[in-house]
Amino acid sequence: MSAAGGCIFCRIVAGEIPAEIVHSAEAAVAFLDVSPLADGHVLVVPRVHAARVEELPSAAAAGAFRVVAALSGPVRRALHADGLTIGVNDGEVTGQTVPHVHIHIVPRRFGDGAGSIHGMFQAGPRRPVGEIAAAIRRAAGER
Ligand code: 5GP
Ligand code: ZN
Repeated sequence: MSAAGGCIFCRIVAGEIPAEIVHSAEAAVAFLDVSPLADGHVLVVPRVHAARVEELPSAAAAGAFRVVAALSGPVRRALHADGLTIGVNDGEVTGQTVPHVHIHIVPRRFGDGAGSIHGMFQAGPRRPVGEIAAAIRRAAGER
């Protein structure tokens, strides 16, 4: 059993349970989603266990996004897709069901009706962007 015991994605990365692996790199593995939103739905999974993006070591984050960039063209071409939705559910509130960071790559077609990530949110009054930017800069230790 791997270090992160019951984590399904740690077990796939360790080869303990099967998956349709499409790419294997030093920092991350990519395999097909078992319950795809569209044909060619790929998950890019860092080898290191981290539940949230903010917990990822820098090398794992960089390596995982390198895999996303390297695979985007091949996935799109193999599926004859018009584009890709690339996204992360980060935290239970977003609908994340597997608490090991994973980046979804979902092939898209004109007319598939799935829409943009902007469609997930309702329009409404927002706090001034300057105030928000200052709060984020403070939290990030920027001036
Ligand atoms: P989330 O909702 O956490 O962003 O996405 C988790 C994804 O992992 C889902 O799309 C789900 O279908 C996929 N998934 C869950 N368990 C397994 C598994 O054992 N194997 C594979 N290949 N995909 C899985
Ligand atoms: Zn894990």
